[in-house]
Amino acid sequence: MNRSNRSYELYREACVLFPGCVNSPIRAAVEPYPFFVEKANGAYIYTVDGETLIDYVLGYGTLILGHRHPYIEKVLKNQIEKGWLYTTPIEAEVLLGKKIQSYVMRNGMIRFVNSGAEATLLAIRLARAYTRRKYIIKFNGCYHGAHDFVLVSAGSAAQHYGIPTSEGVLEDVAKYTLVAEFNDLSTVEYIFRNMGEQIAAIITEPVLGNMGVIPPDKDFLKGLRELCDRYSSLLIFDEVITGFRLGLGGAQQYYSVSADIVTLGKIVGGGFPIGVVVARKDIASLIAPQGKVFNAGTFNAHPISMIAGYATIEVLEKEPVHYYARLAAEKIVKAFQEASKENNIDIQINHVESMFQVFFIDKPVKNASDARNSNSVLYKKMQIELQKRGVFIAPSQFEAIFTSYAHVDEAVSKTIDSIHTVFKTIKNMSSG
Ligand code: PMP
Repeated sequence: MNRSNRSYELYREACVLFPGCVNSPIRAAVEPYPFFVEKANGAYIYTVDGETLIDYVLGYGTLILGHRHPYIEKVLKNQIEKGWLYTTPIEAEVLLGKKIQSYVMRNGMIRFVNSGAEATLLAIRLARAYTRRKYIIKFNGCYHGAHDFVLVSAGSAAQHYGIPTSEGVLEDVAKYTLVAEFNDLSTVEYIFRNMGEQIAAIITEPVLGNMGVIPPDKDFLKGLRELCDRYSSLLIFDEVITGFRLGLGGAQQYYSVSADIVTLGKIVGGGFPIGVVVARKDIASLIAPQGKVFNAGTFNAHPISMIAGYATIEVLEKEPVHYYARLAAEKIVKAFQEASKENNIDIQINHVESMFQVFFIDKPVKNASDARNSNSVLYKKMQIELQKRGVFIAPSQFEAIFTSYAHVDEAVSKTIDSIHTVFKTIKNMSSG
């Protein structure tokens, strides 16, 4: 693989320290072992082995501006000189809060936490307190973070390792999480008909980004909204990936459906740890210290995350980030389509704005079962071959491929060339 041994040496040391040699399961999916990164810039990451890779993982959807956008770097340097942790409020959290309120929920209030998982945990606790009901509905293949309420039929790395429900999650907790099929309203209606009065909330990713990419069918999200209204349940959109990626207004604006609670993460922290709960004022006012739903955190509204997040939104407002990220995605999707056609390999591509995924299957992928039925071995081959040629896409088909503002010209052309070569290689492998 044209690598020096440095990554391997570090990997061997890591294996003695960290279970499975890594600190988050998906990282172990990079073969033959995870490369260690020295630095990154724009669309590129540079490994300790001297390799250069075009990055389509981008912090699993975080870095919509690419690595080291100069404006973000400037404001961060400026902040570092003033200290980086006060555990008492700063102006940047008010500034970022106002932006989020104006784009995500005008009649909403906000709590900053430190990860997407913390945000969905609080969102569900809040929904249960507000409705005084116990059950929630989630969808097969949706991933909402690594906590007990939602580690049931989960996607992302939980899917990759075949642990639909993690060991250690109490059945007494998991039984309150009911699972429906994405893009199949009848499965949701069935649950509501039987126990509608007990459902606190539906939680969903508006576009599945942890089963590859699976967009909602026309009217699916509207159908969820109507069911929640009919049964006085709350609708939670987990926009940890889609927030600020599908546009400044996220999936709510993109699909013209409003949620009662929205969770955010990734992009909104500008590359630093963050989670956000945005909820209608009457719901959010239950959060402590105003109300009795407890949440607290040493690092909540961390100054660096606030500063980087606010600066990111400023760039999204001023520069054509979404346009260029989408353009790059469109060009690359087209290359996948052409290369697969030329080599008679069946693929389906699901694509929304600057996120997409390639499935090796000959029929549309509309839910988790379709994604699981795709040929993940072929996906893995493609990923490994692309990586050998300097293109780093998600190491599992159950993640998304992302583009950024920094994916222009040279990086995109090189990617397109590599895609054509790799599909020829895959064809030869299967015929040979
Ligand atoms: N929700 C969604 C939709 C996600 O994609 C993720 C992470 N990929 C999470 C929640 C959890 O976020 P975090 O990893 O920051 O806890």
